[in-house]
Amino acid sequence: MTEARKVQPHPAGKCWWCGKPGDSGEHKVKKTDLRRIFTNKKESESIFLSPTAVETNSKLRIMQGPDSKLIKFPNILCKVCNNAQSQPFDRAYTDFIAYYARHRERIMDERSIDFRKIYGRSTWRREVLHLSKYLLKHAGCRIAEQGFKVNESVAAFLNSPAAELPGIHLGMHLDTSLQNLVASETAGEFELRVFLPDLDVHFAESISDTAFGVFKEQRLYYISGKMFIDSLVFEWQVFYEELKSPLRFPFRKPVYNLILTDSVKH
Ligand SMILES: [Zn+2]
Repeated sequence: MTEARKVQPHPAGKCWWCGKPGDSGEHKVKKTDLRRIFTNKKESESIFLSPTAVETNSKLRIMQGPDSKLIKFPNILCKVCNNAQSQPFDRAYTDFIAYYARHRERIMDERSIDFRKIYGRSTWRREVLHLSKYLLKHAGCRIAEQGFKVNESVAAFLNSPAAELPGIHLGMHLDTSLQNLVASETAGEFELRVFLPDLDVHFAESISDTAFGVFKEQRLYYISGKMFIDSLVFEWQVFYEELKSPLRFPFRKPVYNLILTDSVKH
C-alpha cells in the first residue's frame, strides 16, 4: 500500500482544540482516579501506565504517585480549553467514575449502567454528552501527543451543543483481561489498574478486511485508542475521511449495556 498519509502532523506548540498557543498539560488519567487507586495501596504497589501493548511488556513504566509527569500530556492544549471550556466535561466524567467505583461489583454482574442513576432523570442526556466530550478530549490529546493533527470533527463536536458525531466512534465495554493478568504470574508483584495501550493508526485503501465491513470500498483513515480504568474500557476512533453512513451518538438510551470482552489473548 503506497497511499500517502492523509493525516497531517500536529502543529507543534499549538492547542489542538482552538489553535492558540498550548500552555497547559492535561492529565492522561484523572487525578481522582489515581488518588482512589493509590489510597488503598501500599507504597510499593505502584500503578503501571503503559504506552504499549500489554503483551509485549517492553515499555512498562512505574509511576510513583498521582503527580507523576508520566501521566501528563505535553502542552497540547491551552489553559482556557483545558480548564474553563472543559469543566462540565471533566465534572461529568468525575461523577461517572465515582459511581462506577461505588457500584463496581454490581456493574460487573449486571453489565449495564443506568445513566439516570448517575446524573438524574432530567439531566442524564446532557451529562452523558458531557461525558462523551471528556472522552474525546482525552482522545484528541492522545492523537496530538503522538504528533498527528486532530481531525476537525473532534473540536467541532466539543464545541457543539448538540450530539453530533461526524467521523467519530465512541464506545464503552467491560474487559476482564487485566484482572486475569494481575492474577497470573505475568504481572509479577505489581498491580495493573490504569492502562493506556498504544494508539492504532490506520491508513488504508479500504478497511474491508476489518470488522467495519460496512465502510468497504471507501478510502478510510482513522486513529483509534483505548483507555482502561479498572475493568472499564473506553474506546474511540476518529475517522479522517467522511463516512458514507454517519455515526450515531452511542449513548442515546438511559441504560447502556456493557459487553464483556477479554482483549488479552492468552
Ligand atoms: Zn485552546
